[in-house]
Amino acid sequence: MTSSSSWQNPVPRGRYHLLVVGAGPAGLIAAQTAVRRGATVALIERNLFGGTCLNSGCIPSKTIIRTSRLYREMRDAERFGGQVPSGITVDFPAVMGRVRRVRARLSDRVTAEELSAMGIDVYLGEARFAGRDSVTVGATVLRFKNALIATGAHPVRPPIPGLEEAGYLTYENVFDLTECPKRLLVIGGGPVGCELAQAFARLGSRVTLVQDEPMFLGHEERDAAQLLSDALARDGIEIHLDTQTTRVRVEGNDTVVDLVHDDTKRTVAADRILVGVGTAPNVEGLELEAATVAYDRARGIPVDDFLRTSNRRIFAAGDVCTEHKFPHIESVAGRIVAANALFLGRERLSAQAVPWCTYTDPEIAHVGMYVTEARQKNIPVKTFTVLMHQVARAITDGEEDGFVKLHVREGTAKILGATVVATHAGDLINEISLAMSAGLDLHALARVNQPYPTQSQAIKMAAEAYVHSRPNALRAWLTRKWLSW
Ligand SMILES: Cc1cc2nc3c(=O)[nH]c(=O)nc-3n(C[C@H](O)[C@H](O)[C@H](O)COP(=O)(O)OP(=O)(O)OC[C@H]3O[C@@H](n4cnc5c(N)ncnc54)[C@H](O)[C@@H]3O)c2cc1C
Repeated sequence: MTSSSSWQNPVPRGRYHLLVVGAGPAGLIAAQTAVRRGATVALIERNLFGGTCLNSGCIPSKTIIRTSRLYREMRDAERFGGQVPSGITVDFPAVMGRVRRVRARLSDRVTAEELSAMGIDVYLGEARFAGRDSVTVGATVLRFKNALIATGAHPVRPPIPGLEEAGYLTYENVFDLTECPKRLLVIGGGPVGCELAQAFARLGSRVTLVQDEPMFLGHEERDAAQLLSDALARDGIEIHLDTQTTRVRVEGNDTVVDLVHDDTKRTVAADRILVGVGTAPNVEGLELEAATVAYDRARGIPVDDFLRTSNRRIFAAGDVCTEHKFPHIESVAGRIVAANALFLGRERLSAQAVPWCTYTDPEIAHVGMYVTEARQKNIPVKTFTVLMHQVARAITDGEEDGFVKLHVREGTAKILGATVVATHAGDLINEISLAMSAGLDLHALARVNQPYPTQSQAIKMAAEAYVHSRPNALRAWLTRKWLSW
């Protein structure tokens, strides 16, 4: 909670260099970057500062995942030579209490007062465009030279017969639960569905996970998705892949769900349903027509590589955009908008090496190109893989599931992309991401000195595999000569 009820909107200071609608990650980064660089900035928020990420996305989900991992480790104690504590019970209100405390602690950093102290004019209320260069908040008219639409998205409500009547959870209200559902049916096998299915399973729910595609995490590499599938099954989750949810109904105390796979019908009873089938952009009510900003209700606002909309003075970033609608991109996008809108910058989103991660156990992280993407672009690819069970620190930690895969342009050391599946893949990917951003190749990664033992040794080992795969006749001849001399 960040917006204080006593907050008084300021009196507008002429025409703002940058007006930002939405104080989620994209809007906040853009506003903060612009004001640090000397611009006059207005920031409009209708609800909570920090947006989805802080209030119902990244932060509450990662907090609950941490506690669920603790319970998994307790039950797994014997694997580490420890003893399983007797009578493990989950105090669900305590778990959720920690979620609220963590959220409150991080909220303190983004209050209207803090942002205002930085020099940002903060307006609480609903923003509506009144023209090509003006926005209203209540009765106040704000004028701008450049604007950023960063209004985010809301959960998609799938048209499954009976679902609305039966009631269901989404990421917007799942963190308000006061009781852990005994039987939870999760619809959707993307990052949100998989992360929360695993967390609730570890906290004691009997979880059924239904995905209408043949694998989880549709955009990830197949072997990564398969490892995740195996891990979810080990957590006791009942998995239904390639399965449609066709109907929901209430029978007594049960919510009964019909599932269809290959013409075979099956019925599953649950106490609660959690829907995680994606998001739809927040474009309604913004009066985008007045600003001549083109948009699509389902797909959002189209932007070019500089994040400009059809009105060249208005930019869009984050989950409200049609393109680049990946969770990891919004803060990068906010920075790019500040540069492009105010300082004639030509920063392209496509030029960024942006990593992302799904925080299941094991985590699945990626940066750069996928092999299929490279092939579509006729780029020849060679992949160097190290399995985590080859890495000493993964063995000592009992965290041997997964791999590091580095993709290079064949015949060169240039990194095209990488996938890491590992307990700490989200941290491991950073080294590769840094190398890509700094233009470093596999020779550089192979030469990095690392403390021993660490799990990031896997990256060095994969880079060394590349170096060893390239016989250098001249070097071999020189070595022979030198040693014989
Ligand atoms: C469960 C879950 C877990 C996630 N975990 C991760 C993760 O681990 N890592 C990661 O990178 N991403 C994660 N994401 C995704 C991430 O939360 C979003 O991609 C990110 O919040 C999008 O940022 P945004 O700035 O585009 O929009 P938002 O964060 O949605 O912010 C938009 C803001 O605009 C405001 N707004 C909307 N319309 C108006 C209006 N008309 N006037 C004024 N204000 C308005 C809204 O109130 C909101 O505060 C997760 C998402 C979910 C749901």
